[in-house]
Amino acid sequence: MSGGLWPEGVRSAASFTFDVDAESAVLWGAPENARRMSVMSHQAYGPLIGVPRILSLLADNGITATFFIPGYTAERYPEVVRDIVAAGHEVGHHGYLHEQPSALTRDEQIVALERGIDVLSEIADVRPVGYRAPMWDLSWEMPELLLERGFLYDSSLMDADLPYELAISDSTSSLVEIPIHWALDDWEQYCYLPEISGTGYIATPEQARALWEAEFAGLHDVGGCWVLTNHPFLSGRPGRAASLGRLMADIVATPGVWVAPLRDIAGHVRAQGLAPRAIRPI
Ligand SMILES: [Zn+2]
Repeated sequence: MSGGLWPEGVRSAASFTFDVDAESAVLWGAPENARRMSVMSHQAYGPLIGVPRILSLLADNGITATFFIPGYTAERYPEVVRDIVAAGHEVGHHGYLHEQPSALTRDEQIVALERGIDVLSEIADVRPVGYRAPMWDLSWEMPELLLERGFLYDSSLMDADLPYELAISDSTSSLVEIPIHWALDDWEQYCYLPEISGTGYIATPEQARALWEAEFAGLHDVGGCWVLTNHPFLSGRPGRAASLGRLMADIVATPGVWVAPLRDIAGHVRAQGLAPRAIRPI
């Protein structure tokens, strides 16, 4: 059953990931949003209500997940980060103030990267091995900056069904890349913030789950890697969380699926000794 990349008896891998953006996602590049109390409260719902509910769901289903946390969120809600770590989940790097790497200079990217590393270390004694670019908008420089700082993997690119070794510059060194896709994100389904994001159309939890299940069926069939990205301020609401719990139960019960945090998937991929694959800059 193994497609070559996965452990014996495994057909596909699946990972539940959560981006704990909270306020940072609407503050970077638009600090005037800080004046909008209702908008801030919409984002605060994630760490205040969504994360505890999601931690319960994960425990109920025996799943270890990956949480990408901007440094600003960690500073504002340190106990939430510590609760995530105490439950055995992985914490990954997600910028400091959710900065879009492609919009920053190389030096600005370094500042955001190092500030995020320092905050996670100070608050939860965590040294992240994984990175996810805010807005999934990786820059061409970032893979090398990550490698220089000891990261094992990135999860922001969309050019494969399976993880691979991303070649850095012309060298033989590489970063594990675990691909993602917009169809496996809850932002497009659920997020509506007037003048900030969305059209006002909000999908039902059943519609979102049907999309994610269809993507899972396809990736499982080809022996791929299904990575779901949810935001606690969106998917932590009760009806959506209940639906997410049903999805978790279905996936855990599917034979031949390895459900794991991204750090474990990346570690397994690294151990396979794959030849690095170069992506030619445009
Ligand atoms: Zn984010």
